[in-house]
Amino acid sequence: MTKSTLSPLSAQAAQADHHETPSAYRDLALKSRREIHSLKRLVSRFIATCTGKNTLVDQKLTEFRDVLYSAQDVSALLPRLAVIERMVGHQDMTQKKALSHLDEQFHTSGETLQRVTGLPAQLKRDLRDLLAQPMSSDTERTQHLIKLLQLYERAVTLQVARPRAQHAQVELDKDQIRRVADELQNLITELDIDGQAGDKLLEIRRQLLTDVSPTSVVSLTLTSLRLILEATQAERHASQQFLSQVNDDLVSISQQNTRAYDHASQLRMAHQSVDQRLERTITDIEHEISLQSAPAADPEAALIRALDELKVIAQENEALKNREQALEEQLAHNQNQLSTLAEQTMDQRRHVGDQERKRLLDPLTRVYNRAALNDRLEHEYRLWKKYHREFCLAVIDIDHFKQVNQQFGYEVGDKALKVIARSIYQCLRDTDFIARFGGEEFVILLPDANDDTRTDILANISQTIRKLPLKFKNERVSITASIGATLFKDQDTPKPVLARADQALYQAKNSGRNQIIWC
Ligand code: GH3
Ligand code: MG
Ligand code: MG
Repeated sequence: MTKSTLSPLSAQAAQADHHETPSAYRDLALKSRREIHSLKRLVSRFIATCTGKNTLVDQKLTEFRDVLYSAQDVSALLPRLAVIERMVGHQDMTQKKALSHLDEQFHTSGETLQRVTGLPAQLKRDLRDLLAQPMSSDTERTQHLIKLLQLYERAVTLQVARPRAQHAQVELDKDQIRRVADELQNLITELDIDGQAGDKLLEIRRQLLTDVSPTSVVSLTLTSLRLILEATQAERHASQQFLSQVNDDLVSISQQNTRAYDHASQLRMAHQSVDQRLERTITDIEHEISLQSAPAADPEAALIRALDELKVIAQENEALKNREQALEEQLAHNQNQLSTLAEQTMDQRRHVGDQERKRLLDPLTRVYNRAALNDRLEHEYRLWKKYHREFCLAVIDIDHFKQVNQQFGYEVGDKALKVIARSIYQCLRDTDFIARFGGEEFVILLPDANDDTRTDILANISQTIRKLPLKFKNERVSITASIGATLFKDQDTPKPVLARADQALYQAKNSGRNQIIWC
């Protein structure tokens, strides 16, 4: 046995050979074989635990194990060991990279979960703690991963259970949608658009006043916007056309006037020329008369010449008259065109005036609208600041008006609103003001009203509404109103005063309705 083929253990045994007895040598050899066997078993176990990460390494390890068992001389395995060592080193690097990637993914997934809205605070806390913990071993890493998966599971379970909560949201939104429907129908009334678009908008308003689903409100809102846009564009187009027509007419009249002016100057020059000829003829006649007694005079011939000349002048004069008449006709035509134009612009001005009135009047009830209220409130407020006379603002809201619509239909509701507005108006003094604030709500301004006056007016309004003889199919429709009232005081401005009156109205509603509350 050469030195190079001796394993360390067999070398040890050989060494012992020189110094020990044969039985001692046998014992040693036996011990050595047992150790080798144990080592082989250990290596084999290691190999078993190391397999499963890389097939190539696995293959090499399995081959190694087989050879290890069959090999008499373990040192023959050394080259294989070198290969395996290299492969394991490489495998180690790859695995480190994979682990680092896994750690990154772990944190990214954790952060993604942190960003999910609506998760319970406890879950978020658990997640934060988990992400803050270090992962120094494979076991820790596995535990962390399991915990993250558990948190994901909790989150998913909660999200799946969510539709019930979303349902509550939809219920809540229904209220908002109802408000949008109310606002939109108010807006349609306020806009009061004419023509086809106006008719369609009124139909939408009718639908909005009956019970509509949220999806219908959305589609009706879109349709309304489109119709309002169309109507506005049509109005703008009509104004542009009108202006362009007026412009064309003015250009044409101006050109005709220039021509008439040229014509008039030509006529003036022609008249001058006729006048000159007439003067010359008269001079000639006078001259002939002065030469009457002269021997060479021929008065008869001179007279005939003069007569001829006069005839020509008379003809020219006649032609001039015709031209003058044509000019007069042209001027009359121009005048007509100007009158028509003036009428058209007057119509347009009336139309603009109507639009302006419409801008301030509520078309349903014929009392002022919110835009007018803003103007008037600002005006009365300035007067109050200057003179500090008692100035009262009240908000009147009809009680349970929705029920009137539901019970009798919105047309009856509309009629009731008209009657109510008129009755409130009739309870006011000339200097007072009423506006429909929206829906079934009115605002009144009572400037310069002392305690008795304002109390009387408000009580009268409340009573008048209560006693209105409203009937539907012979059934009496009973209506009451709640009123919130307040006075301008100290450093008040319109906005907080309106809010205060609204607050008072709210109290009136909460205290059973059909009453007046001062705030
Ligand atoms: P409350 O006593 O709390 O004021 O009850 P209410 O039903 O009057 O109150 P709410 O403000 O909830 O409803 C007002 C209703 O008035 C909603 C809408 O149907 C109706 N309404 C608003 N404007 C008009 C309208 O121009 N014509 C008709 N017919 N009804 C309208
Ligand atoms: Mg009401
Ligand atoms: Mg209301």
